[in-house]
Amino acid sequence: MGGERGSIVVMDDLGKPVDATIVFGTQFHDHTTQQLRDTVERGLAGWVVQNRKSTLVTDTSKDNRWLRRTDDSADKSGAKSAICVPLLARDRLVGVLTLVHSIPNSFNEEHLALMQAIADQASVAVLNARLYTESQRTARVMSALAEAAAAINTSLEITDVWRRILNQTMQALQVETVALALIDHDSNDLIFQAAAGHNSGSIPGRHIHNGHGLTGQVITNGLGLIVPSVKQDSHYSEVDKFEGIEMRAVAIAPIQSQGKVIGVLEAVNPISGAFDPDAMVVLAGLGSLAGTTIQNAEYLNRIQKAHQRYLELFEDSVDMILITDWEGTVLESNRQAVLLSGYSKEELRALSIDQLHEVKWNRTGLNFETLRRYDECTYESGLLKKDGSSIPIEVHARRVEFEETDSIQWIVQDVTERKELDALRDDMIAMIYHDIRSPLGNVVSSLEMMGELMPVDETLTSMLNIARNSTARIQRLVNSLLDINRLESGHQIIDQNSIDPQALIRESIRDVIPAATGRQQIIENNMTVLPLIWVDVDMIHRVFINLLENAIKFTPVAGRIRISAQTDGVFVKFSINDNGPGIPPADRERIFDKFIRVRGRDRTVGLGLGLAFCRLAVHGHGGEIWVESEPGKGSTFWLTLPVAQKKTTGQLKRKTGRLTMNER
Ligand code: ADP
Repeated sequence: MGGERGSIVVMDDLGKPVDATIVFGTQFHDHTTQQLRDTVERGLAGWVVQNRKSTLVTDTSKDNRWLRRTDDSADKSGAKSAICVPLLARDRLVGVLTLVHSIPNSFNEEHLALMQAIADQASVAVLNARLYTESQRTARVMSALAEAAAAINTSLEITDVWRRILNQTMQALQVETVALALIDHDSNDLIFQAAAGHNSGSIPGRHIHNGHGLTGQVITNGLGLIVPSVKQDSHYSEVDKFEGIEMRAVAIAPIQSQGKVIGVLEAVNPISGAFDPDAMVVLAGLGSLAGTTIQNAEYLNRIQKAHQRYLELFEDSVDMILITDWEGTVLESNRQAVLLSGYSKEELRALSIDQLHEVKWNRTGLNFETLRRYDECTYESGLLKKDGSSIPIEVHARRVEFEETDSIQWIVQDVTERKELDALRDDMIAMIYHDIRSPLGNVVSSLEMMGELMPVDETLTSMLNIARNSTARIQRLVNSLLDINRLESGHQIIDQNSIDPQALIRESIRDVIPAATGRQQIIENNMTVLPLIWVDVDMIHRVFINLLENAIKFTPVAGRIRISAQTDGVFVKFSINDNGPGIPPADRERIFDKFIRVRGRDRTVGLGLGLAFCRLAVHGHGGEIWVESEPGKGSTFWLTLPVAQKKTTGQLKRKTGRLTMNER
């Protein structure tokens, strides 16, 4: 077009000139900022920017849009011709293009149209270049983060993870010092865990009190911040300082995991003097990467600890533990296995489970099918030791996952002691039976005979009665001990007969009345007419005596005991109520266990076997027994016993004994 000089000014989206070039003939000149501003604010270009229209000026001396500079020389300030067009791309103004000729009337409408066509091309080129720059920047951020992610995720060892996060932050942001702090679960304080770079040695271990300082702001808002110059920032305070580091600029981003801020990542003093525009995006990205990785590392750490704990439990268990595969070959064994079997760990590993004990295939299933179904099984067997001897064991087998392998766990308990105790108990039972029960029977029958043969004498009769009552007590105790043993080993109650509950209660009261009278207690019998019950008469008689004796024993002098019963046609429900001290809630179940006495209250010495016997006996009859009590006000023991059905009474067995003679 023959222009002599021209200029192009490029503007950002807000209309601010960001770049410009002037060309004189074939020479390019970078424009100064001030000149740029003047041109687009006040000059011809300014008019074009405002009006978004192109314009042709044939004589600049006659157009006051033309900016005349005071510093312009004479040849420059003379009349010229000019064309000025806006650079419009997709309705966005991206700049202005100006062409000047030193002679007026050098340009015409044709030149203007040509300039407009060039401007159209140029504006698209400018816009594309700008988009390209932006995408280049985004790509740089993305690749920095991707690189960081790859580097950070190569390890889950926690201190290694911290070190990697710090290295990546330092590289991506090009700063002198970086630091990482996490929120302490208990105090909520921020504690610096790791740091890297210039003078970072004193940073780890630093505490910042919950919510304080710039880091506090970041944690509260969940947003990162950049302080380009700490000197000019009023928020920057003593708590934000690091010992030995002169802080000039700092960027802090939250470390986030699952939407929660768990700490901060801090970058101090960019080497170039200022953070570049992407610094926050990169730091925030690193923060969230760090969050996920730190969390994962913590989870792994926890799992590893749990695993370690499991291994310790496995190793230190007082029981022998073996892990086998589904062929039964030992994969792993613990210390106790070595001790008990006499084999070393290596020797055990070559053995099959059935070389160590006789497997009860009927319990485990032929190919361990029972275990495969996740059913556990327990049985007794003998451990075959290396020296050829054998000890009694109890085996618990079940399917487990061991070291990520589907396997069988065998817990083997040495039951030698228990077996010895069992034998001892059997001996004791036999002893009770032969050495106490039989001679006692002789004493009882001798006393009976003496009563019949003796001359009538008050003193002798009373002494005889004392002897009779005492032997009856011993007999009841011995019988109950034998019953406990029998019922516990699963024996059924076979000696059942039908009896009138009223008679049974009357008889029981008669046996305990001397004790109650001795303590000036009243026993109230509120029994009404009830159907016959189907029970082992002697056993249930002892149950009632036990309950009544307890009531007498634990109720203070001059107390009162009340007995009543009702029926639903299937069971008769008895209650024995006293106004004694009652039983604390925590003990209401326990007292039915063997050898249990409620501590600290009663000074009376007992074996704690009475209620255990009562429960076994009542359960043996298909009934229930329980206690209701209000501490301080008394206790009520309830028990249910089956009503004798027509069918059963028909085939009634006659029982010989005290109760059957006249009471039925
Ligand atoms: P023992 O009477 O030999 O101690 P028991 O099994 O008969 O054993 O009773 C267990 C415990 O239950 C007693 O020691 C006592 O603490 C508590 N107990 C039983 N009956 C009563 C009752 N009627 N009132 C208060 N406490 C009772």
